Amino acid sequence: LGIDKIKQMLTKPAFDEVVLNPKIQEKNKILFGQDLTASQVVDKIVQAVRQDGDAAVMKYTKLIDGVDFSPADFLVTAEEYAAAEQEADPAVVESLKKAAANVRSYHMEQKPKSWMTYREYGSILGQALIPLDRVGIYVPGGTASYPSSVIMNAVPAAVAGVGEIIMMVPPALDGKINPYVLIAAREAGVTKIFKIGGAQAIAAMAFGTESVPRVDKITGPGNIFVTLAKKAVYGHCDIDMLAGPSEILIVADKTADPVYTAADMLSQAEHDTLASSIVITDSEELAKQVQKELELQLANLPRQEIARASLDKNGLIVIAETLTQAMELANVSAPEHMEILTAQPFELLPYVRHAGAVFLGPYSPEPLGDYFAGPNHVLPTGGTARFYSVLNVETFMKRTSIISYTQPALMSVQDDIIRLAKAEGLDAHANAIRLRGMK
Ligand code: NAD
Repeated sequence: LGIDKIKQMLTKPAFDEVVLNPKIQEKNKILFGQDLTASQVVDKIVQAVRQDGDAAVMKYTKLIDGVDFSPADFLVTAEEYAAAEQEADPAVVESLKKAAANVRSYHMEQKPKSWMTYREYGSILGQALIPLDRVGIYVPGGTASYPSSVIMNAVPAAVAGVGEIIMMVPPALDGKINPYVLIAAREAGVTKIFKIGGAQAIAAMAFGTESVPRVDKITGPGNIFVTLAKKAVYGHCDIDMLAGPSEILIVADKTADPVYTAADMLSQAEHDTLASSIVITDSEELAKQVQKELELQLANLPRQEIARASLDKNGLIVIAETLTQAMELANVSAPEHMEILTAQPFELLPYVRHAGAVFLGPYSPEPLGDYFAGPNHVLPTGGTARFYSVLNVETFMKRTSIISYTQPALMSVQDDIIRLAKAEGLDAHANAIRLRGMK
């Protein structure tokens, strides 16, 4: 294949071009009584929740998630927390606490500070960083449970100083939530948890309902319905990013271990059939070994079926002419996770232009970042690492400018301001400056 063709294969389609898999399309025909695209489903749900509040949330929770809740059932109770603590394995809880502590200490270092600076004639300029009043985090729960996502969303919000952190998790068919999700939420500083999933959860947080308070920002990953709902409510509140299925791209040379390389590809492929796992290498030998190793490891995976479908659809091993060309191609893909498994990984670091997170060397596999090291695992996907950053403390803060001039400072610049105001035909602006010089 030519390089242009490979670049084309590495470029992800935009979210609104996503075609639903036929099984979901068929299910939606039954659920909604008509053939709707994912965006049409989401628009319908979002509008209904905006208009009818809890009643619409109840309706769609029953229709899509099969759980017959009244509004009083949405909120997780103290008894449910207690039951979760009873049920949980203390060793897992201990590991969750260690992970939360690592994530907290990493994000404390990242916290941006307000600042002020003195300028001529005693004027002061500055910038205040103000935490958001209330945020809502979405924790996916349809096909798996993600206590780690609770920590990755809520801890930075707590470090930012957000007043209230609420959380949405889809209920399982029995109306319950994974106990570790609840325990992680408490550990991370979440104030209220609602058992609501999908587009109805996003709309409830964006507009508020009788039982769900309206939030200023929604963060967290989810499936296509969640992501399109975040896109639909943007402007009514802020969102972090549009995050899609997980991705890994590994740049490897002949020194890379094929066993590690295949294992890391599979760690993404098992997420979901839409996940993508790509290797770009300058070694044909490694490419062949990885292919063999994938088969061997797949045979022992409980989520083999998902991983295989994902590799069939979105798995790719590219042989590049050089490592520099490999990095050029990696940047075209702009992956969520980029691993560099080469003899001198730090030599390639300056070539990284677009990646959510970079993992260097054989002992920094992607799950280390997913769970434990400290940096955030909520990362831009679908090529959006071109313009989005990893979720961080500032995601939960706003910047406000501070300006304070003395009279001499203002008079020293009045001519310029008046000239600019007049050039824009805004005489009242000019007057507001001129009058300050009259007393
Ligand atoms: P989810 O919580 O995102 O979605 C489940 C909800 O989707 C349900 O509650 C339901 O209301 C709604 N839904 C399901 N089918 C629907 C339909 N046919 N029509 C309308 N609404 C429907 O959980 P999920 O489905 O398991 O997806 C989780 C996603 O999050 C995966 O793609 C996973 O890779 C991703 N993820 C990403 C990260 C990250 O950090 N990037 C972390 C964890 C998970």
